[in-house]
Amino acid sequence: MGYVVRGLAREGHFRVFAVECKEVVEEVRKLQGLSPVATAAVGRALAGVAMLAVDLKEGKVLLQIQGDGPLKEIIAEGDAKGNLRATVRNPWVEIPPEKGKLPVGKAVGKRGYLSVAKDLGFKEPYQGSVNLISGEIAEDLAYYLTVSEQIPSAVSLGVLVDTDGSVLQAGGFMVQKMPDATEEEVIELEEKIKALPPVTRLLSQGYKPEDMLKEIFPDIEFLETREVRHRCHCSLKRVEEALIALGEKELEEILREGKPLEITCNFCKRTYNISLENIKKLLEEAKKRG
Ligand SMILES: [Zn+2]
Repeated sequence: MGYVVRGLAREGHFRVFAVECKEVVEEVRKLQGLSPVATAAVGRALAGVAMLAVDLKEGKVLLQIQGDGPLKEIIAEGDAKGNLRATVRNPWVEIPPEKGKLPVGKAVGKRGYLSVAKDLGFKEPYQGSVNLISGEIAEDLAYYLTVSEQIPSAVSLGVLVDTDGSVLQAGGFMVQKMPDATEEEVIELEEKIKALPPVTRLLSQGYKPEDMLKEIFPDIEFLETREVRHRCHCSLKRVEEALIALGEKELEEILREGKPLEITCNFCKRTYNISLENIKKLLEEAKKRG
């Protein structure tokens, strides 16, 4: 378990967020067999989406990064209850560290896009997208927030991977400028952030999410702390619903082929076995719904 905090700084001139999610990233690494560079990339996406999700009262937020690098696509999802999950197209991609750092930008690619979809449950899903800048994820997410959501933001994300591939540290922080912030405050903030050691070093030194933010602002009003955990909400019912949604033709085709289905969840790798009997029932349901 880890946790994410959100609060206000400088009397509401800035919104601040920070997260520690080592255990979540480690669980995803083990489930998906992530290589070190894939762990770093997926971990950053998870830390980022955790901070987007703590802003939700209900529903979920999905962060998707598609690049021309070998990882191809990363999807990280978080909901209002602190449940996180993630998947990557090519989890086995190996790129050795460069100057002691895992080259996430190379693995993700510098061309592609980052998109965010919010499903708040009660109204139309919101979606926005920007081109990637560096593929390093934090910078891309900041660019997305600044350009697409028009909230000037600074984002810092970090994942430290041990020599055996396991996750030593994972987390990040995010600062969003509100309209009342002054020019001087913004300049001061930029200098503070520039002078700050990397997130992974802070976490290694025992900094908690709150401590990272206090390094930037001495006067923070913390509004909320939310636990984050890895949890996938897939279920047999959801798999069956997806099959019904395929429609009559597809289901009849599956029955003609005469092989039961084995469907594996991309996120948690759980496998669902769907018998031909069951597919017949789903076909009946699909017909009923027309
Ligand atoms: Zn699942």
